[in-house]
Amino acid sequence: MSPATSTLTLTATSYLEKSNNDDESMLKNIWKCPKIIQISSDNLSEKMKCMWCDTIFLLAHAACMLSHALRVKGTGVQACKGKIPPDAHKQYMMLYQKGKVKSEARKQVSDDVFDIFDSTQQSAMASLLVESAVCCDVLKKYIMSQNK
Ligand SMILES: [Zn+2]
Repeated sequence: MSPATSTLTLTATSYLEKSNNDDESMLKNIWKCPKIIQISSDNLSEKMKCMWCDTIFLLAHAACMLSHALRVKGTGVQACKGKIPPDAHKQYMMLYQKGKVKSEARKQVSDDVFDIFDSTQQSAMASLLVESAVCCDVLKKYIMSQNK
């Protein structure tokens, strides 16, 4: 067993203790969740790992990880196969919603889109489109950098 593996086990345990004692604390970003880790190696770009299902992604990107953990379809990101407790899922959903609002503001989309967001059903649909665009762009860049 490598030293890295034992560190991961410790992190998972502390997460469980924390969620029992402190249900109200909200994550500032996905990387604050002990179950989502970034792996950086000396001369390679940063990777990320989902501890719920032990999947390693070749690129660390918060929106992609949220799509993974929330099992958002149509993003090109593999859905999480792990058992994510409702508490953690709620936190991811909050982050997801926050990120969505931010990226929408950046893109200066028309008021129509914000109107659509009022409806819960269509809001999920619209956020899918946003996340999909973000992930595809990032993955494309990553693939390009790998082909150099
Ligand atoms: Zn996962």
